[in-house]
Amino acid sequence: MSETITVGLGERAYDIHVGAGALARAGDLLKPLARGVVPVVTDANVAGIHLQPLLDVLDQASIAARPVVMAPGEVSKSFAGLEKLSGALLDLGVDRKGLVIALGGGVIGDLTGFAAGVLKRGVAFAQIPTTLLAQVDSSVGGKTAINASQGKNLIGLFHQPRIVIADTALLSTLPRRELLAGYAEVAKYGALGDAKFFEWLEASGAKALGGDSAAMVKAVAHSCRMKADIVARDERETGERALLNLGHTFGHALEAATGFSDRLIHGEGVAIGMALAFRLSVKLGLCPSQDAERFNRHLKAVGLPFAIADIPGNRPAVDELVAAMAHDKKVSDGKLTFILLKGLGQAFVTCDVPLEAVKEVLAA
Ligand code: ADP
Ligand code: ZN
Repeated sequence: MSETITVGLGERAYDIHVGAGALARAGDLLKPLARGVVPVVTDANVAGIHLQPLLDVLDQASIAARPVVMAPGEVSKSFAGLEKLSGALLDLGVDRKGLVIALGGGVIGDLTGFAAGVLKRGVAFAQIPTTLLAQVDSSVGGKTAINASQGKNLIGLFHQPRIVIADTALLSTLPRRELLAGYAEVAKYGALGDAKFFEWLEASGAKALGGDSAAMVKAVAHSCRMKADIVARDERETGERALLNLGHTFGHALEAATGFSDRLIHGEGVAIGMALAFRLSVKLGLCPSQDAERFNRHLKAVGLPFAIADIPGNRPAVDELVAAMAHDKKVSDGKLTFILLKGLGQAFVTCDVPLEAVKEVLAA
């Protein structure tokens, strides 16, 4: 039960190895890239569970791995986190032609990718994502970043990994809420471009989330394949790659309005954001309402939120949400860019959306 997907980026092409137990092959897979000391960057939570097995397989392959353990959470995706990490990498004496391994969720992947991208003007890095969100989204495609006080992910660069090893068995220790939030990005691929995949998720998504490892491998591999294909055609997001932002303009606004707190984690914001994108598309007469209802039914069936009212606490004000959207980095020429839908599996990019319709959807 394993699949390999190639991200076709010419001389920067790389493989994503998806499988239950893929970590056992990390030594063989990473050996050709390793040189000198190889730092393994992780966070304290992941270190407590999954670091030692990785160090063991690397040791068996005679790779001189050295752990660097960061604090868990967004706090590490910062200038302070970057300073700490790059200092540790330099102290370890990472070779300019060497390798840095990221073992963790999106935070560790984004931070390590960025640090590797600027360290000695760029060293190679490998991604071993440990959250569902990171396996299907952030570990693939080369976007790396830290946060600025002005906003999230504003300081970063494109730096493609040399290899991604996505071991779905690592997800068994992930808190249920994190697993579900990552699943929102899986459902996103069906919604944005593959109605057949969405149909498969309706039949098997809950199984994958419930621990059926063949189903989870398929869900992760198919998501990675879709992202890989889009990234290969539009690495720098000048066009089609923007489709991957389905649900994210609304989602980011909801995250901002709830203070990027525990009230709403990223994937949950994306789930509600996608439901809002469907609603807006229906309101504008672009999408059949049955498709929007079907999408909501699936989110509900797996246990994801799909309405603003599902967020605990005070409902964010419409004006606040609109202001947050205007601050989003995807704004260009003062116009809000939305990903809307002509139906399930048929997303498109537009910046031609009347603000009144957006407000109505946010108030409903
Ligand atoms: P994401 O991948 O969702 O962007 P993070 O990198 O912040 O997010 O990871 C979410 C949380 O889950 C963090 O607290 C992290 O330490 C923890 N975590 C990551 N992977 C695992 C895992 N496989 N098992 C248990 N906890 C994990
Ligand atoms: Zn996302």
